[in-house]
Amino acid sequence: MSFIAETQRAVKWYPPAYDIRIEDQPIPQLQEPDDAIVKVTLAGLCGSDLHIYRGHGGVESPIICGHEFVGEIISLGKSFHYGVTGRPEGYAELKVGDKVIAPFTVSCRECHSRCVHSTLFGSPSLPGGQAQYVRVPKAGGTLFKVDSITSLLPPSESGRGLEDSSLLLLADILPTGVFAAIQALQHPRIAPFVQGTPFPYNGYIPSGLLAENPVPLPQEDRSLTVAVVGLGPVGICATVSLLDMLTDLRRTSALQYRVVAIDPTEARRSKMQSVFAAISEPTDAGSFVVASIEEGKEVISQWTDSLGCNVVLEVVGNNSALTLAYDLIRPFGLISSVGVHSSPPVPYTGKQLYDKNVSFDFGRCPVRATLPFAAKLLLKRQDIFGGVGEEASLVDKIVGIEEAKEVYEEFDKGRCGKVLFNPWK
Ligand SMILES: [Zn+2]
Ligand SMILES: [Zn+2]
Repeated sequence: MSFIAETQRAVKWYPPAYDIRIEDQPIPQLQEPDDAIVKVTLAGLCGSDLHIYRGHGGVESPIICGHEFVGEIISLGKSFHYGVTGRPEGYAELKVGDKVIAPFTVSCRECHSRCVHSTLFGSPSLPGGQAQYVRVPKAGGTLFKVDSITSLLPPSESGRGLEDSSLLLLADILPTGVFAAIQALQHPRIAPFVQGTPFPYNGYIPSGLLAENPVPLPQEDRSLTVAVVGLGPVGICATVSLLDMLTDLRRTSALQYRVVAIDPTEARRSKMQSVFAAISEPTDAGSFVVASIEEGKEVISQWTDSLGCNVVLEVVGNNSALTLAYDLIRPFGLISSVGVHSSPPVPYTGKQLYDKNVSFDFGRCPVRATLPFAAKLLLKRQDIFGGVGEEASLVDKIVGIEEAKEVYEEFDKGRCGKVLFNPWK
């Protein structure tokens, strides 16, 4: 295989912390038949990159950073050819020249469980996307063709543009936001409100034990109070996803809802306000408030007569956010946590969890499975996901990777929102 150049420019992090260098690196080559080499057109800088940047990621050797990228396939391994059957469709469909989105982890889509190959890009085991080229293992399962998103549009809108900067959001933050919301609304603790069927009739009932038919939940009990803790880019994506789903539920099932979106940082709250102003529909009668921590506690207390929320979406990844989530939740409530937690141990005792019957869902988004849902939302909301640097857009700016060192510092200090790298600028 021949390339125009032998080296590429890439963003590298060096231990122990805060050391970003932009260096010449070898261009990655195909190693396995299932590999693809992708020429990166845009790469994202993400809040979770900061865990490594600050030295909290437990990483001890230099790595090429970044787990969010979109680009174009320039080379495919031997597994890819027309007519391949019995494998994910990518092995038959992907071609050199295709525009693709890489979700943040490898996903083989052949192992029938949470993927055992789910290696994270930009980690010690797999070089990342803040570079000009990336090797993608298990690419026929992992990569998502941009064409397959535009094909979701009705024919009348098929010519509508999809901004490349918005596609980048599908690599991580939008699927993660959708995941935080959908795992909450699908949870057995929340299903009674969504379905209008009281516990324990909202799930499996042993066939021999059904003693009487359930009385449907009265309308006044079909009300959900939700808090979103953390309004960084993922928190805003989670809030937009949640409001989209709740509006849908309100239309189809008359569910009432109230949402409070909480962050201690003024700039993040005002971004959330601008996004909400862009998405809210005047006919929608749910309640939505953006609040500081103290205001959020106050609002929930007033709304629920001090009972607390049914659901907290925790989108921060530290113990003060988990503590706040516990304080806000009502007994028998659910905390849906997608923040990246590393250390220390979670801040709860068994007694606290027992006393409130708290349910937790923790962990990383199954990104490849969630991506198609996020793609639909992306199409629907190009007004907020499509822009760069506008009042209601999630992406602040696009810079060249030579500026990475300064941008990491700026991002670390909270002086900018989501930044994308164009490695060819
Ligand atoms: Zn990310
Ligand atoms: Zn797998």
